[in-house]
Amino acid sequence: MSASEAGARLDPARVRADFPILDLQVNGKPLVYLDNAASAQMPQRVIDRIVRYQTREHSNIHRAVHYLSETATAEYEAARRSIQRLLNAASDREIIFTSGTTDAINLVMHGYGRKFVGEGDEIVVSAIEHHANIVPWQMLCEERGARLRVIPVNDAGELDFSAYRELLGPRTKLVAITHVSNALGTVVPVADYIAEAHRLGVPVLVDGAQAAPHLQVDVQALGCDFYAFSGHKMCGPTGIGVLYGRAEWLERMQPFKGGGDMILSVTFEKTTYNGLPFKFEAGTPPIMPAIALGEAVDYLLELGLANIARCEHELLAYATEEVARIPGLRVIGTAERKAAVLSMVMEGIHPHDLGTLLNEDGVAVRAGHHCAQPVMARYGIPATARASFAFYNTPGEVDTLVASLLRARKVFGLS
Ligand code: PLP
Repeated sequence: MSASEAGARLDPARVRADFPILDLQVNGKPLVYLDNAASAQMPQRVIDRIVRYQTREHSNIHRAVHYLSETATAEYEAARRSIQRLLNAASDREIIFTSGTTDAINLVMHGYGRKFVGEGDEIVVSAIEHHANIVPWQMLCEERGARLRVIPVNDAGELDFSAYRELLGPRTKLVAITHVSNALGTVVPVADYIAEAHRLGVPVLVDGAQAAPHLQVDVQALGCDFYAFSGHKMCGPTGIGVLYGRAEWLERMQPFKGGGDMILSVTFEKTTYNGLPFKFEAGTPPIMPAIALGEAVDYLLELGLANIARCEHELLAYATEEVARIPGLRVIGTAERKAAVLSMVMEGIHPHDLGTLLNEDGVAVRAGHHCAQPVMARYGIPATARASFAFYNTPGEVDTLVASLLRARKVFGLS
């Protein structure tokens, strides 16, 4: 179905026709793809966009006056405006193409952190962050003699807001917090966290890698200073991501990488930097991935992020109810507000063995620590088997997952 035909209510069974890979058979069984939190699949429309770019439009951008360069430049900048619409950013100058969420966070670490964070300062993160939103801040703290403060999490996977308020203080230079936890599925009420930080004039970076594909994100309504996400988790290609940054911060920050395109003039004595967003896009950017991401974002916008959220919410509720019937299975992450992630441990079966057995039935889940080792440590487990949903998953696929989990118990001699 073309995205524009989508009504207010998404029908996953019909949307599936847009995704050729979903027709695959794995081990003689229909593929049940439940690893969307790692990478989502790509609709034919985005694949076609890549082919069109490579066959009719490819050239380097920004630096020539010939037809192809002007075409590629126009399409690259149009993709930026699609991202601006997705996030409701005030200006396309605030949309910076990066190689992914990790790269976007590192940009802020270098551009903001190395300029504004000094000895004795503090950076606040939460206990449920992906390593991408921990390690760069640790590196900065080590370099600057600053200190990392951590918002604690309760047994359900919800952050402790009053503990957070106590962590904030005159030394706080940045709050870096996830919008949706990739390991637990918790939706963090980030607007409240942002408002609290802003009372002290502290900027907030939101890691939106797991939120942008599933929720309607409005950076102006949230009030965040930075918002990061990855293209490959939202039906686009790998190698592309986005940093939204409020212009007033981006203008004050130092560039992350130096090179072509991020300059206005260079002499051996002095370089003058380019304006936004180019100041942060040194060198030839990932042109084709950016254009393909723009197409993916247009597709998601046509489906409607609110429709996607509703459809995935129903699927997660159904899956949560169904796996509750399985003996010995424990869901890790039972927050009141969750999005698209069902992390499980099964008594008597290691998550990796569980993942391998599910794969025999064509069911793709991820087993591991999900780049969130502190989360695993918090719950005293080495790993989980994580099913993560997209709008093209169906209740029938949840039934296959449940049947496969029950089969795994039999294989392990568990009743
Ligand atoms: N943050 C979160 C919450 C994630 O789930 C991920 C990837 O799984 C990342 C950051 C890192 O994204 P990438 O590897 O695309 O840079």
